Amino acid sequence: MTEETADVSGIAERLARVRSEIADAAKTAGRSPESVRLLAVSKTKSATAIRAAYEAGQRDFGENYAQELVEKAEALADLRDLRWHAIGTLQRNKAKAVARIAAVFHAIDREDIAIEIAERAAQAGRVIDALIEVNVGGEASKGGVAPSEVRGLFERARGLEGLRLVGLMTIPPPSDDPSLSRPHFARLRAIRDELGGASVVPELSMGMTHDFRVAIEEGATIVRVGTAIFGARGV
Ligand SMILES: *Cc1c(COP(=O)(O)O)cnc(C)c1O
Repeated sequence: MTEETADVSGIAERLARVRSEIADAAKTAGRSPESVRLLAVSKTKSATAIRAAYEAGQRDFGENYAQELVEKAEALADLRDLRWHAIGTLQRNKAKAVARIAAVFHAIDREDIAIEIAERAAQAGRVIDALIEVNVGGEASKGGVAPSEVRGLFERARGLEGLRLVGLMTIPPPSDDPSLSRPHFARLRAIRDELGGASVVPELSMGMTHDFRVAIEEGATIVRVGTAIFGARGV
């Protein structure tokens, strides 16, 4: 068995485990399991692996790089109800491809990207759901807008044709201890509440393989999980 086949054969089982952990975390938090959407992050993984997850019932898939998204969307075009999420920082010249393919864009980090995505989606006769990426940890190296800038960007982006502003996304500073992510997740939720709460900003995209349980306890509506489903990515 090649390494890829070994990986693919375990996907349905790992997916089932992640789903049950999501349901457990939701119940612990007094939430309904249906209030949390699992986004399978498939970056660097093959179309075969994605197809295996699809066959196990998974429908939402996340990709970081526009080129990879384009190639996989083409290879998997027969899976009509598969939803692509673009989750990586985007350059303007890639906006057209993303706006044509993605159902959801998680990484609005400046006004010109919001405008470009919106225009390209409108040209394609589509409406793309979008989330503002917030740099809650204040890390200089990290994408996303500062918490103090969210409201301004939110007000400017929300009226754009072709784009429906549905939420906020964050990536906390890396750590081995998931509990260290908690204050960052709580902060994102607080920023959401300052914008008017869940009725105005329904989606909170937060939590990855190591900390999605904590994210759910703090109100995540979308968790972005790669490694726990597809196995480790090569480095
Ligand atoms: C890679 C990635 C993930 C998934 O990370 P895992 O630790 O493999 O679950 C989630 N969100 C973003 C933005 C990513 O780039």
